[in-house]
Amino acid sequence: MISRIKRKISGTLQALRGKGNHGNHGYCSICEHPVYFEIEGPWLRDQYRCVNCKSIPRWRALMSVVAELYPRWRELKIHESSPGGPLSDKLARECPEYLPSHFFPDAPRGQIHGGFRCEDLMAQTFKDGSFDLVITSDVFEHLPDVRLAVGEIMRTLRPGGAHIFTVPWYRTKKTLIRALVKDGVLQHLEKPDYHGNPIDENGSLVFTEWGAELPFLLQQWGQFPVIIHTIRDRALGIDGEFREVFVQQKSYR
Ligand SMILES: [Zn+2]
Repeated sequence: MISRIKRKISGTLQALRGKGNHGNHGYCSICEHPVYFEIEGPWLRDQYRCVNCKSIPRWRALMSVVAELYPRWRELKIHESSPGGPLSDKLARECPEYLPSHFFPDAPRGQIHGGFRCEDLMAQTFKDGSFDLVITSDVFEHLPDVRLAVGEIMRTLRPGGAHIFTVPWYRTKKTLIRALVKDGVLQHLEKPDYHGNPIDENGSLVFTEWGAELPFLLQQWGQFPVIIHTIRDRALGIDGEFREVFVQQKSYR
């Protein structure tokens, strides 16, 4: 009798959890209420999803840091470069002064193209001090010149504002340049590696696997200190590889 009840309870729980994979209950920073986080496979970075908003850990980590450091983020001017997914959807829904941009190589910079403002993160058309926050989510591995992008992001931030972002960070390795642009010509130094891109079915080429030098380079290029938030907390659905959230704040000096 007891074992039958047990089986029934466990069957009901499995049904609630979906396909019988394991996971846990917790609080999703994007949904902002209790949810179930489902583990769909061993690579938690992409396979540990909120069953409600379908977010993955790095988006929840980024949102947690934004909400903690800038609790009134809904009232701020936010620029997100290369948006996509439930975090971007939340910002678009809840922040009236959210401005998403994509880079379309064939469209004029500063103009609307396909519903998005066309901006090259390395050569932006925004005025100095335009934004309180700049968000980039796994963008810095895809840029041929991150030094230029950091300079531009810091230029377009107001004093007290910050660039809050994620990037795959190989913190115990040396930075690996996989590709570069020299005299306007793309050169591959390693076998080309592409990641998914919401506006290009061919994906985005990985130019750099950032290693241990990254925070020092950011500080040197941006002229402001960098703080790295590393959260590992299953109660927030945050676990897996590359969970770091980088914050480079433009001080008031
Ligand atoms: Zn969620």
